Amino acid sequence: MRTESARKRVLLLGGTTEATTLAAALAKDERIELIVSLAGRTSSPLVRGGQLRTGGFGGAEGLAAYLDAEAIDVLVDATHPFAARMPFNAAAACGRVGVPLLKLCRPAWTPAEGDRWMSVADLQEAAATLVARGARRVLLTTGRQELEPFRGLHGITFFVRSIEPPDLRRFEAATAVLARGPFDVQAERALLSEHAIDTLVTKNSGGSATAAKLAAAREQGIEVVMVHRPAAPAVPTVDNVADARRWISAQLIRTGTSAE
Ligand code: NAP
Repeated sequence: MRTESARKRVLLLGGTTEATTLAAALAKDERIELIVSLAGRTSSPLVRGGQLRTGGFGGAEGLAAYLDAEAIDVLVDATHPFAARMPFNAAAACGRVGVPLLKLCRPAWTPAEGDRWMSVADLQEAAATLVARGARRVLLTTGRQELEPFRGLHGITFFVRSIEPPDLRRFEAATAVLARGPFDVQAERALLSEHAIDTLVTKNSGGSATAAKLAAAREQGIEVVMVHRPAAPAVPTVDNVADARRWISAQLIRTGTSAE
């Protein structure tokens, strides 16, 4: 049951720097009651502002029921470009209950002169590429939940960077590099040199917080195995926080909240 309220209820699906920035801005907007949703994968999330809820909704159906029960007026999906399921669930749920949906997704990285990128479709292909290229010392920056395809690879020493300790069982040789971005070029340069890295594996997450590794790899002639983004649903999409705020404001005006 929906009830009319002066403030519009915005649900923000988070888990990214952009979501955190947008949440901080929306939390100050008096026209909005903000709820930020996180999957609950990180034990110390950085979100400030709005009411926080954690954990899955139970698929598209569960999300549709939540949107209805919580009388959500606008949904903003600011999940990570590699979050493969949530964007489709959001599109299906919003279609079902008639809630306007915006996807906020930062632009992908593109190669610059001097880059030695090998584009692959997924992590399995990334692992196969390491073997095919004869990689020996690899900086793996794909996240601690995405290690399966790399376990058991023979003759490769992995340096696994993640925010929280990774499970390195069944790796022949692996060391955890615990760190949380943003990273700068100087530190990335030092990391690549210190461990004599010959190949970097990364998802094409885009954004500035973790782009320094690409500049450092370019400088040192290090090969980069670049994993493509998964497919995304065809929904209204912006690639920056300012445009997201404009879209939300336009929706608030459309749905009857007074303009700024
Ligand atoms: P995913 O494959 O799209 O989502 C898997 C399931 O996790 C979803 O079906 C949903 O469960 C739940 N979920 C995802 N995002 C949620 C959110 N913001 N609030 C509540 N439930 C959420 O996504 P993922 O790759 O597992 O990523 C999980 C979270 O980590 C996302 O919020 C994403 O922004 C963040 N993240 C992902 C990556 C990455 O590389 N994949 C990197 C950095 C941050 P139900 O179906 O039960 O609703």
